[in-house]
Amino acid sequence: MPQPEGVSIRATCPACGDVDLVISQIQAQLCVTDNRGSYSFSCPGCTSDISKPAEPGVVDLLVSAGVDLTVWQRPADEGEIHDGPAFTWDDVLAFHEALEQPDWLDKLTSATSS
Ligand SMILES: [Zn+2]
Repeated sequence: MPQPEGVSIRATCPACGDVDLVISQIQAQLCVTDNRGSYSFSCPGCTSDISKPAEPGVVDLLVSAGVDLTVWQRPADEGEIHDGPAFTWDDVLAFHEALEQPDWLDKLTSATSS
């Protein structure tokens, strides 16, 4: 009587072609930053480590079959340069002018009390 090995999954190795893998030979990865999935396995034929992109739906399928999932996140501001314009005197003056309208408070209160 054969040992139950669970579901086998067919994957493609660039060197060996189609290979059959068991769940424990596959790892799935999902990047939550851009919702991009991939899976990787060690080819039973040539022992190379192969990593392939996968639709998030495929990742779900692999995970529901019992594949280990690694969720990772790309650092949000990796290499990002904060070079936006500084708050200038023009901005301060524009704000100051708005407050110099004699009825700015009336406008504000009438807008909220009607
Ligand atoms: Zn191979």
